[in-house]
Amino acid sequence: MSLVSSIDTAEASYIETIKQSGGLPFRVSSYFASLAKPDKTDPIRRQFLPHPAEDLPDPFALSDPLGEALYQAVPRLIHQYQDRVLLLAGGTCAGYCRYCFRRLWINQPKGFISPGERIPVLAYLKAHPEIREILISGGDPLMAEDGLLAELFKALRDTRPGMLLRLCTRVPITNPSRLTPETIRLLRTYRPLRMVIQSNHPRELAEPAQEVLTACVDQGIPVHVQTVLLRGINDDAEILATFFRECLDLGLSPYYLFQLDLAPGTAHFRVPLKTGLTLYQELKNRISGLGLPVYAVDLPGGGGKIPLHGGVIAGEREEPGGTVYLLQGPDGKLWPYPADKNQPE
Ligand code: SF4
Repeated sequence: MSLVSSIDTAEASYIETIKQSGGLPFRVSSYFASLAKPDKTDPIRRQFLPHPAEDLPDPFALSDPLGEALYQAVPRLIHQYQDRVLLLAGGTCAGYCRYCFRRLWINQPKGFISPGERIPVLAYLKAHPEIREILISGGDPLMAEDGLLAELFKALRDTRPGMLLRLCTRVPITNPSRLTPETIRLLRTYRPLRMVIQSNHPRELAEPAQEVLTACVDQGIPVHVQTVLLRGINDDAEILATFFRECLDLGLSPYYLFQLDLAPGTAHFRVPLKTGLTLYQELKNRISGLGLPVYAVDLPGGGGKIPLHGGVIAGEREEPGGTVYLLQGPDGKLWPYPADKNQPE
């Protein structure tokens, strides 16, 4: 039984409510839906099936949780860190993760970056030789056909021959058949290129995903893994340890374990920060350094990415929404993140 056929009347009615209100629609590839079990606690089901908890008020929610608008250099291009930029190339995904921090972007109808939209992006890259890496994200760039991907990669390469391409994607997990041998050869042509996938649970590493990911590694495309810490899905040291060990066995490199961003409608997925720190310590005790990602948070509102560790909470203060912890950003300023007692049940 797939996820779709296990949806009950109340769940179907909530999906309809979202459709009417214009919220992030329910979407999951038939392949990934087939991996889910009908059990309501199934980790794949919980990541993709809309839930009324998305309507709970969250005083800390931010429509642009990472403050990307502050760093927009030209349309679709974000320049926050000196040596790298983020390109919002894609507009859709093979499935919509309910905790997505870029849900407002993917919920607006827009396609893959067009030739016209590429012009200011390429001009900016040409004018900024300090940029050494470009993160190609969206939405998921692998939703585009090979021809469109090749055009983009070629344009980037012609403009900046040595620049590292970082392809950020969840498609090898959610729709592995998209990565045909031809697509993998195409990616190989444009090295230096690294693939950064998002995956959150051992159940996602099913055989078809394993096959395409090892094929990428075998073809000389390094694959890094980013994982989002999600309440009720992977907030368990043994689940995380199993997952990262399996990544290592496949030749994939665990990269980041992310504390949840403050996107609207996602508070029920948030693991309280101190719980996350304890979990990470347990994880450290179970796996080798090779399998250990960096536990990190993108400071809400545009403060940048910082690693999370025992001494990271510099203080607390009261804000209109409730108590917040103060975390020091790379700029030395203190940035707020909701304190554990504000976690909705
Ligand atoms: S794949 Fe990434 S961009 Fe797409 S819905 Fe999931 S988290 Fe959001």
